[in-house]
Amino acid sequence: MSRLNDEKPFNSPAPWRGNEERAMGTYKEFHRQSVERPEAFWAEQARLIDWERPWDQVLDFSRPPFARWFVGGRTNLCHNAVDRHLADRAQQPALVYVSTETQEQRRYTYAQLHTEVNRVAAMLRTLGVNRGDRVIIYLPMVPEAIFTLLACTRLGAIHSVVFGGFAAHSLATRMDDAKPALLVTADAGMRGGKVIPYKPLVEEALKQAQHPPSRVLVLNRGLDPTMPRVPERDVDFATLAREHEGAQVAVEWLESSEPSYILYTSGTTGRPKGVQRDTGGYAVALASSMRNIFTGKPGETMFTASDIGWVVGHSYIVYGPLLAGMTTVLYEGLPIRPDASIWWRLVEEHRVNVMFTSPTAIRLLKRQDAAHLSRHDTSSLRYLFLAGEPLDAPTHEWISSALPATQVLDNYWQTETGWPLLGPCPGVEARPRKFGSPGTALYGYRVKLLDAQSGEEVTAPNQKGVLVVEPPLPPGCLSTVWGDDARFVSTYFSHFDKPVYSTFDWATRDEDGDYFILGRTDDVINVAGHRLGTREIEEAISGHPGIAEVAVVGVKDSLKGQVVVAFAVPKDASRMQTEEGRAGLTREVMDTVDKTLGALARPAQVHLVTLLPKTRSGKLLRRSIQALAEQREPGDLTTLEDPSALEQVREALKPRE
Ligand code: ATP
Ligand code: MG
Repeated sequence: MSRLNDEKPFNSPAPWRGNEERAMGTYKEFHRQSVERPEAFWAEQARLIDWERPWDQVLDFSRPPFARWFVGGRTNLCHNAVDRHLADRAQQPALVYVSTETQEQRRYTYAQLHTEVNRVAAMLRTLGVNRGDRVIIYLPMVPEAIFTLLACTRLGAIHSVVFGGFAAHSLATRMDDAKPALLVTADAGMRGGKVIPYKPLVEEALKQAQHPPSRVLVLNRGLDPTMPRVPERDVDFATLAREHEGAQVAVEWLESSEPSYILYTSGTTGRPKGVQRDTGGYAVALASSMRNIFTGKPGETMFTASDIGWVVGHSYIVYGPLLAGMTTVLYEGLPIRPDASIWWRLVEEHRVNVMFTSPTAIRLLKRQDAAHLSRHDTSSLRYLFLAGEPLDAPTHEWISSALPATQVLDNYWQTETGWPLLGPCPGVEARPRKFGSPGTALYGYRVKLLDAQSGEEVTAPNQKGVLVVEPPLPPGCLSTVWGDDARFVSTYFSHFDKPVYSTFDWATRDEDGDYFILGRTDDVINVAGHRLGTREIEEAISGHPGIAEVAVVGVKDSLKGQVVVAFAVPKDASRMQTEEGRAGLTREVMDTVDKTLGALARPAQVHLVTLLPKTRSGKLLRRSIQALAEQREPGDLTTLEDPSALEQVREALKPRE
């Protein structure tokens, strides 16, 4: 049923008009059209990609809350990310790989990327991977990871990337959920100059799993000479690659709603959910976001400093920039090694135009010498996008002034949505940014705030509510939870009497329609009947110049219901060394909260630590901190980044003499 590559798809590439030529009017009008006439709006956006067969129906919402986009249309993500560009930009770099771990640099043009992806697709096919089969990818940040993702989508196989470095148990539970035909892994990753063997952990996961794959494709980077091997089952990547030199594999055209991948959420709030993404809707949403939100033009360069194991990596290291005909930078290494100027060196060397990372990373840089930022020419950088965690105003202001030529823009989204839900849309209309706010609802999303108890819509400005999206969810958002339609409905659409999608985040909206995220719905602290968002208090505390980072939790209290407890990381660790220094800083932190929010929000305790427990994706694990503070078990820690951070919390909570 698939067609030959060189046959022209029905919708030959729509000319990519420069943003300046667009006559869309203001952003408000753009958004209005997207929600009032979604079918016309998205049909127009769908012209940004190639379709092998046009759709019969733009949207099928006959079985709410399940939405299917571009029903009957046939397309392919790999074709749109790679093959489609061969005519115009075969010799342009598609992928630049830089590793400060192995000191490697590699560059692939679109033509070379096409060759590599075809070869890996042929390898996967030899190993028995077919359309609809799942492939677990447990790889470090290497080009082969990107080839493998694209090879999967080329074949219509469903990839599921598990963050390299997750523990065996995490990998095993994801295997049992996805039931893969194949696992692709490497001998090892590297972090901060240390080799992190993957294979022993993979062996352990395979042992634990009820549904292990029968074959394991292993990329031997030569990092771990002691790598365990199982001859019958393991296949060497390089050997198989040699056998498939020059292989061509036709693109498998998929019906738009066929799954492209499964990606598990970060697990900040509990057992991860297998987010299932479609094919056509995702391709359209990403191509559209590249143009309207990220302003990425063909021939330009995007550097997303994240990991392919996260949704940001899927959407904006791999698919988004390539769909847009850009050069994507794949960076393996830490942001502060060899020193904190490494990212800006990459920006200078590769003339990066658009960058994307997390506030957590910026907070890490903020603790380093600010001179690192001015050492390099960053004038090519138009935008720095940040997402994943609240971007507190002090951090936002700090990075903005450190990069004077660059607009720093916060955007808010989730693994589930696949692309931003709140944020600026500079490709349509540039608006002045507000520190501490990601901005307005993005096009395609009908966003509302609902009262947590009554479910009534909160319309007055600056009132708290739960951030929800009125279905149907726009293209690109999850189509269901993998293998569990019931969990999709019960998790996301059963929070209120009416079937709306809950983000499980609190927010307020001001007079201009700009949102402020206050924290997770289960992160609200109820002090003597007053509901306080963890985020508000954290933001107040990070306004203190001596504090680099802070986590605030509500802890059970017999008198007040809950009290506020803060864990703060001082910028200058020497202030923690003496009892006096600690007491002084603690008092100042409390005073800061008093002044900014009032005594009601004042932490009952402030603990100073050098590290906060976070998920591997950089999110604060407040639920674990809270559990320890309430003398409970910290819960599911499979996604914890550094166990010593939790140890510090435990230590800090011990009563002092
Ligand atoms: P799980 O759903 O498994 O508990 P998770 O919610 O941490 O994990 P992600 O999908 O990676 O997994 O994270 C999305 C969440 O991150 C959002 O719901 C929100 O709480 C937070 N977030 C993302 N971007 C922003 C932002 N710009 N400002 C504030 N919070 C943000
Ligand atoms: Mg979540």
